[in-house]
Amino acid sequence: LASLLKDPSLLASKAYVAGDWIDADNGKTFAVTNPARGDVLAEIADLGRAETARAIAAADAAMKGWQKRTAKERANILRAWFNLMMDNQQDLALILTAEMGKPINEAMGEIAYGASFIEWFAEEGKRIYGETIPPHLPNMRLQVIRQPVGVVASITPWNFPNAMITRKVGPALAAGCGVVAKPAGETPLSALALAVLAERAGLPKGLFNVVTSSKSADIGLEFSENHAVRKITFTGSTFVGRILLRQAADQVKKCSMELGGNAPFIVFDDADLDAAVEGALASKFRNNGQTCVCANRIYVQDGVYDAFAEKLAQAVDNLEVGDGLDEGVALGPLVSEAAVKKVEEHIADALAKGGQVLTGGAAHEKGGLFFKPTVVTGATREMEVAEEETFGPLAPLFRFSDEDDVIAQANDTIFGLASYFYATNLSRVYKVAEALEYGIVGVNTGIISTEVAPFGGVKQSGLGREGSRHGIEDFLEMKYICMAI
Ligand code: ADP
Repeated sequence: LASLLKDPSLLASKAYVAGDWIDADNGKTFAVTNPARGDVLAEIADLGRAETARAIAAADAAMKGWQKRTAKERANILRAWFNLMMDNQQDLALILTAEMGKPINEAMGEIAYGASFIEWFAEEGKRIYGETIPPHLPNMRLQVIRQPVGVVASITPWNFPNAMITRKVGPALAAGCGVVAKPAGETPLSALALAVLAERAGLPKGLFNVVTSSKSADIGLEFSENHAVRKITFTGSTFVGRILLRQAADQVKKCSMELGGNAPFIVFDDADLDAAVEGALASKFRNNGQTCVCANRIYVQDGVYDAFAEKLAQAVDNLEVGDGLDEGVALGPLVSEAAVKKVEEHIADALAKGGQVLTGGAAHEKGGLFFKPTVVTGATREMEVAEEETFGPLAPLFRFSDEDDVIAQANDTIFGLASYFYATNLSRVYKVAEALEYGIVGVNTGIISTEVAPFGGVKQSGLGREGSRHGIEDFLEMKYICMAI
């Protein structure tokens, strides 16, 4: 990997704690592998609670000076970090693809997306306005200021090794907080590369820490039990989100949670079918189906069901599967054996319950973690795929006839992150957009993510919003100052 990079110094294997690059106290490491080839890319410092506690203390100390700087000074440093990310976009993308598997063009996109949160929040940090309130008594003056919440602990997944971190760290730092970030064990290299650039950008020592570890539960416990941590921000499964919420309850820590989804994607009779196919392809197969906003249940109305199924299968057949570093590849490997197993299970379950494979349906001839993109018709609500995210390249097509019925089916889930539908009738568009119980609705589009809009879920998909002017709120506390004059 180092030989592919313009700047091999972006490859770090030590953790970044208190402004120093450190090994684990016990000298242990864990391996990071390339999911496309199976080779070991690096041995990474395997930290435990003691080193994490030092990182938290460093963040706590560093934020005292940081929050006293003007917003503009903070913004200038964040802006320098953004510039360095974009200057090194290709190297960061290569590192990301090597450790995670997504095609290089998607990785390039993720770096730009990830960097955009640093840029956006650098600016938003200048707009942390307070308020004055007309007093309740003549001799009183009432004021509200907003201050950084305190040390922020961040836990992020492997599917967006760069952007999930910047989306949390950007607003946290802009708000004046110190941060300790624990990346996923599968993808620490992207996080460490970010730290290399943060250091170059001039972030004060200790303000931003990256604790790498294979023992995520231990790190989660330190985050939960350490009094200096005032906020936990997490992206990952609903299962782990619940654990962290329970743990955080003991010290009543603030929590932001971006959890699982089970996104419906509805194609109505009046949809532009080609656009719907394109949207389904983007929403379902981006990152090989491994995003929490990927379409999971595709509902297609009677009148266009067969035509849509055929067009989608054709488009899917054109998707090239392979090593994300190779030209023209649209789908990389899945991230792990467990991920492959889950896709296989969902397909077997669907077939046992009457579904039919239109295309794909099995592991790819390339072997390893490669899987054929799959379309299954005849999906029903009894299938596992109706209940939980496949997180892989399986598109199950459900047939429906009635608008109210499909809205009820789409909402019949504990999740509520992203949803999508294709229709052209204006009153239908309004009605359905309002009726879907989701934090995000894509109308006639399969791609909804941008730093300027609020991203987040309702129900068991999470708490809080990331991105947009709202994304900084979670890192601020309100203080009400009541003054007698
Ligand atoms: P995924 O299936 O995407 O890996 P997880 O929710 O399992 O989703 O993991 C998301 C992040 O949470 C990863 O960084 C992982 O290491 C971390 N994690 C997993 N279990 C725990 C835990 N018990 N406490 C804290 N972090 C955890």
